[in-house]
Amino acid sequence: MILKHLTKFKKISATKEGVTRLGHSEWEEKAHAAAAAAFSRSRRVRTVKDQAGNTFLVNGTGPGPYVVMGSHLDTVPNGGWLDGALGVAGALVAMQRVLSKRRNAPLAVAIWADEEGYRFGNGLWGSRAFAGKVSDEELLLLDGDGVMLAELLAERGLQKKPRRSRETGELQAKLVYKPPIEIAAYCEAHIEQGGQLIAADKRIGIVTRVSGIRRWRLQSSGETNHAGTTPMRERRDALVPIAGMVGRLPQLVRGISDGVITCGAMGIEPGVANVIPSRAWAIVEHRAPTDRDQEEIARRLKELVATTGPRAPGVGLDMAQISAVRPTAMSGEVTDLLESVCRKAGVETMRMGSMAAHDAMSIAQVAAAGLFFIPSLRGVSHRPDEDSRREDIKLAGEILYDWALAELERVS
Ligand SMILES: [Zn+2]
Repeated sequence: MILKHLTKFKKISATKEGVTRLGHSEWEEKAHAAAAAAFSRSRRVRTVKDQAGNTFLVNGTGPGPYVVMGSHLDTVPNGGWLDGALGVAGALVAMQRVLSKRRNAPLAVAIWADEEGYRFGNGLWGSRAFAGKVSDEELLLLDGDGVMLAELLAERGLQKKPRRSRETGELQAKLVYKPPIEIAAYCEAHIEQGGQLIAADKRIGIVTRVSGIRRWRLQSSGETNHAGTTPMRERRDALVPIAGMVGRLPQLVRGISDGVITCGAMGIEPGVANVIPSRAWAIVEHRAPTDRDQEEIARRLKELVATTGPRAPGVGLDMAQISAVRPTAMSGEVTDLLESVCRKAGVETMRMGSMAAHDAMSIAQVAAAGLFFIPSLRGVSHRPDEDSRREDIKLAGEILYDWALAELERVS
């Protein structure tokens, strides 16, 4: 059954090779509708859409609280068929099985919108909206074509159009959001997207904590001039300090276990071969499992910026934080329960941290939330050949089913 759902989702894609189902696209909407169709013959399960584009399949008429399973159905361009979809397909089969036994169980499936954040550079959109973690400024984000998130949401009928302030003339938007249901406990199944489980020969990884992510923008400004006629001592080259720092970034996570640092985007202006750069910028992000480690990496980064400094007079250098997601611990109760249902099923597990962000991270802010992984073949993800063993895919649905039954026992 789980494979049937997954195959159905895989076919909903803007491209033939891989799966392209970007957040906020018609393809994502079609996939949400296809998931809801799993309960089209049920008289009790209702489909609830919220103001962020999330879809809930709810067994019951009231606001809850409900035992909830879920994940996302958007992908990166040319992504794989399991990232996100596994957790939704698993939740659908688990809920169908539970309801065939316990017709009135307060159970729901959540399908979170735009988890990848590909178009606007902001991840975990739908689950953060649910948890009250979206700022109004975020609605003013622009995509690569200059389309504003607030405009797009208004076009889809989810939010009001942004307004221009009479005093400042600036565009303003305000997120209007009310969670449609209350969550008693949440569980998400996901592919590992790494190679730890295969290496340890374990079938289920139970996530205890998800690393925090902090992003910074380093920017320097100098002066444009002719690359041939300006003597070296008279230059105000904006790229030199930035380039020097980027080369030294790997040193900043030395001795920090599971600490990683990346410069994944940078630019120079005017960006012409025979012109000295007048502006250079780099986006640096670092991840680590604890607040203390994140603080330490940030301290080292600030020190690096201070000591690298502008080498030439008149070259300015500054550093500003763009975003910060704190490391998140999963609920001890949900984690223990997951471990006990795996033990009863005779499945070997290991506890592990996650270096990638997942919707469960947002839900952990407002409810008891758990997350578990199945192994990813070759440890690859976000590419067309992302895959898992068929028996592990089926196991994800079975563990969700066992967990839901046990969790319903616990919360009732
Ligand atoms: Zn995912």
